[in-house]
Amino acid sequence: MTVPDLLTSLDPLAVGRQAHALATELYPIGRSITGDGFRSSLDLLRRFIPIESTEIPTGTNVFDWTVPDEWNLRTAWIKNARGETIVDQAAHSLHVMSYSEPVRATLTLGELRPRLHTLPDRPDDIPYRTSYYNRSWGFCLRHRTLEALQDADGPFEVLIDSTLAPGHLTYGQCVLPGHSSDEVLLSCHSCHPSLANDNCSSMALVTLLAQMLAGASRRYTYRFLFAPGTIGAIAWLSRNVDHAARIRHGLVCACLGDPGPMTYKKSRRANTDIDRAVMQVLRDTGESHSVEEFSPYGYDERQFCSPGFDLPVGCFMRTPPGRFPEYHTSADDMSFITPEALGDSMARLLEVVSVLESNRAYVNQKPHGEPRLGKRGLYNTTGGSGPADLQMAMLWVLNLSDGTRDLLDIASRSGMSFGTLRHAAELLAKTDLLTAGR
Ligand code: ZN
Repeated sequence: MTVPDLLTSLDPLAVGRQAHALATELYPIGRSITGDGFRSSLDLLRRFIPIESTEIPTGTNVFDWTVPDEWNLRTAWIKNARGETIVDQAAHSLHVMSYSEPVRATLTLGELRPRLHTLPDRPDDIPYRTSYYNRSWGFCLRHRTLEALQDADGPFEVLIDSTLAPGHLTYGQCVLPGHSSDEVLLSCHSCHPSLANDNCSSMALVTLLAQMLAGASRRYTYRFLFAPGTIGAIAWLSRNVDHAARIRHGLVCACLGDPGPMTYKKSRRANTDIDRAVMQVLRDTGESHSVEEFSPYGYDERQFCSPGFDLPVGCFMRTPPGRFPEYHTSADDMSFITPEALGDSMARLLEVVSVLESNRAYVNQKPHGEPRLGKRGLYNTTGGSGPADLQMAMLWVLNLSDGTRDLLDIASRSGMSFGTLRHAAELLAKTDLLTAGR
């Protein structure tokens, strides 16, 4: 089965439901940039695809960064003077600031207050806070909970039963070899705890995409990378300095489950094949979407597009980070992402892969004058209202196929859909009129 065949047989809603179910399992796990929550998340994904883990020891230098201590959390809570638990990490993994050092103390509200993070303008949501590289501890809670504390009698007992100790940073990879050793990289940050769109949506979709592609014939080799944000991508690059040159196309996938329109952020080079492919796919949907220029902020595209690598890697999203009010709060929960949006994202992602697999330049073998389609059975003699789409596509393919322009160029020049042009090229290539070039 080819990737275009996969696309034809895709049931987006069914895959969207499957992705939603997988994201639901990933959601409660207390992930961070290191630790057992990250590892158990990879274990969950291994039910679908083989994933090889790499463990990099604490203290290892990765370019300008150093792998930090590994963080693991067992329990954390705040109790009032009556012994009632008022904040409990078991109830929501966002309640503890990620990388909190261990603490057991009895504190007045005044002493505790600087350790409590809330969102006064979103009083019912828990914020997401981290302190990876500065030793600290803290709790994140609903502002309403904090307001209720003001009336409570102190002191408060707090416990964070965590360990911050030399260990490892983990990342996982699934590689599907293709006819070519040239690679397509699909990467998603996998270090956030209970945040559904910002992490779980893309972890689930990338996994299910890998599972589908595993059953297809592949022109390219596909590398799926599940790494902690920033430090994980940097660690992978530091271990793959030479190998990175094999990456011909890449996408960082994130925020793929919200109901907003698709957004594509271009690679630093802005005009690579992946940029052209994604823009063509989004244009062919006829639905509203946006394309943004590269900026050195966002997800791990900023590592893959750092000037020392400058890889052809864009960022594939629905609503970008920071631009939905639920972002980095407990409101980014499983009700915020939908099977419909996940299924739509999967269809677009598979279309992009299908374009990458089938885009090539052809050479017109009869370039002197327009060749006769009719005598090769390619001319539709019925109907008199001008050439149908497919015939127009054949004319464009024949006219522009001089070996230097690929199907994406022809789509851009003609305004026709990639799928129609690919079909036309496949029909022509079965005759003496067209041969596949590069
Ligand atoms: Zn995030």
